[in-house]
Amino acid sequence: MIKERTGAVVVGAGPTGLTLALQLARSSIPVRIVDAATEFFPGSRGKAVQPRVMEIFDDLGVAGRAVTSGRFRTPLYKRFDDGTTAIHDLLEAPREPSAATPYTRALLIPQNRTERLLRDRLGEFGVVVELGAGLSGFRQDRDGVTAVLADGREIAAQYLVGCDGASSAVRKRAGIGFTGTTDNSARWIVADVEIEGLDRDYWHQWIHGPHSMLALCPLPGTPLFQMQVHAPDGVREPLTREVLQGIVDDLDNGEKVRVRAVRWGSTWRSNVRLAERYREGRVFIAGDAAHVHTPAGAQGMNTGIQDAYNLGWKLAHVLAGAPAELLDTYEEERRPAAAAVLGLSDHLIGQGMSSVLPVAGQSAVVTQLSAHYRASSLSLPTDGTPGDRLAAGDRAPANLADHFRGTHVTAVAFGPVSSKVANALAERLPDRVKAVSVPVEEAEVRTAYAVTEDALFLIRPDGHIGARYTEPDEAQAVEYLGRLI
Ligand SMILES: Cc1cc2nc3c(=O)[nH]c(=O)nc-3n(C[C@H](O)[C@H](O)[C@H](O)COP(=O)(O)OP(=O)(O)OC[C@H]3O[C@@H](n4cnc5c(N)ncnc54)[C@H](O)[C@@H]3O)c2cc1C
Repeated sequence: MIKERTGAVVVGAGPTGLTLALQLARSSIPVRIVDAATEFFPGSRGKAVQPRVMEIFDDLGVAGRAVTSGRFRTPLYKRFDDGTTAIHDLLEAPREPSAATPYTRALLIPQNRTERLLRDRLGEFGVVVELGAGLSGFRQDRDGVTAVLADGREIAAQYLVGCDGASSAVRKRAGIGFTGTTDNSARWIVADVEIEGLDRDYWHQWIHGPHSMLALCPLPGTPLFQMQVHAPDGVREPLTREVLQGIVDDLDNGEKVRVRAVRWGSTWRSNVRLAERYREGRVFIAGDAAHVHTPAGAQGMNTGIQDAYNLGWKLAHVLAGAPAELLDTYEEERRPAAAAVLGLSDHLIGQGMSSVLPVAGQSAVVTQLSAHYRASSLSLPTDGTPGDRLAAGDRAPANLADHFRGTHVTAVAFGPVSSKVANALAERLPDRVKAVSVPVEEAEVRTAYAVTEDALFLIRPDGHIGARYTEPDEAQAVEYLGRLI
């Protein structure tokens, strides 16, 4: 018998599912989040949170906690086969943080720690991850969807989102193809290990030896290092201390590095796939359930979090009465973003194992700061803006992040006409729209927004510019907001 009724059921409590549940919960949408596992994921796997996701964490209320648990700077200590060594910053040309871009470096923080921060924050909204609650199937009709759990329980909801990882049961049950390739010719090891004989101030890399590359990265907030290396032939899980010590000993370079214990370990192979669709009726997929690629460039978890951040506000708005067509823009915006990430990670892995290990530099693409939705049907004007000028669909510069924080649309006004329109919108839609008037003397903000005259920007709840008007008109803006709210 169906007992529960909820707005959305989120299947999978990895970083994607947790972010989605958090987006919904803070919009006061009833949400359940279920996971097949009987205990929380213990590994460091995705250990780099990219700058754009740090901005998202700021909005979600977890950035401060992440910063205290992680580390922005860990210099690389490289050893080469000719016996030489080099110590250098991860970034070739580090950019200083600014008001427009407060985060310019990835934060190193173990994935299990990131998940804990998201879970704790979710708990503050009264939502608890339900463990041991694997989805075995679902059925849907025009009015709703019912998740069927392996133990026979059922959860009825308006929407169901599969954030259940690369082997997604939701994707398979929805009949959504997952096209791409799996390279079985090579495997890599990722393991969290206790190490003796290494300085914790460096990300150690040996670019020589029989395994071509070995990396040991200190994991902030833990006594552990994350080990990454090509898996020697025949090595399979579970990874033992003896096997990992053997790999270190193979370097045969006189350094006395001892593997004391293995806390968690796994192997992976290159799997590059993209879901053919992100939606089947009332069922969506997000994160690794929708796209997988190599860890090169440290993009997977970050891309999943961005999926959830995008879908979350749209689901919340539709459940609060916005037109259902808004949900079509999720796939429209996020599938091309994932396709671009697949191309990037393929390109980086093509440069060799070394790109898998560091955060592969910190270009605007890798940091995800340049990810945009210019081609989206939600971006006005749709003709875009030529060149580098800030356009609808772009991430809004963070100068006004204090005003964006929350689940509302922000109407940012740069002059008297737009201020009048912004205030009228906020009055018309209290709690849903907030108005901000930027004074003329705020030159830095004007520069960041590339504004010289009066202009109105409507900033979406996910911090992207929805609409940009140079001749603001209340009726036009109201019509636009009617598609979002
Ligand atoms: C070596 C390595 C290094 C990486 N480094 C980075 C990095 O630095 N940065 C980065 O961004 N990414 C990195 N990644 C990728 C990152 O780990 C993944 O992209 C990320 O975990 C995906 O998150 P997710 O929530 O979508 O899926 P997952 O983390 O896979 O979570 C899925 C959840 O769904 C649950 N589940 C599965 N089936 C069911 C079911 N039937 N019912 C209910 N629950 C179910 C699982 O138990 C799990 O908790 C790395 C990956 C590897 C292997």
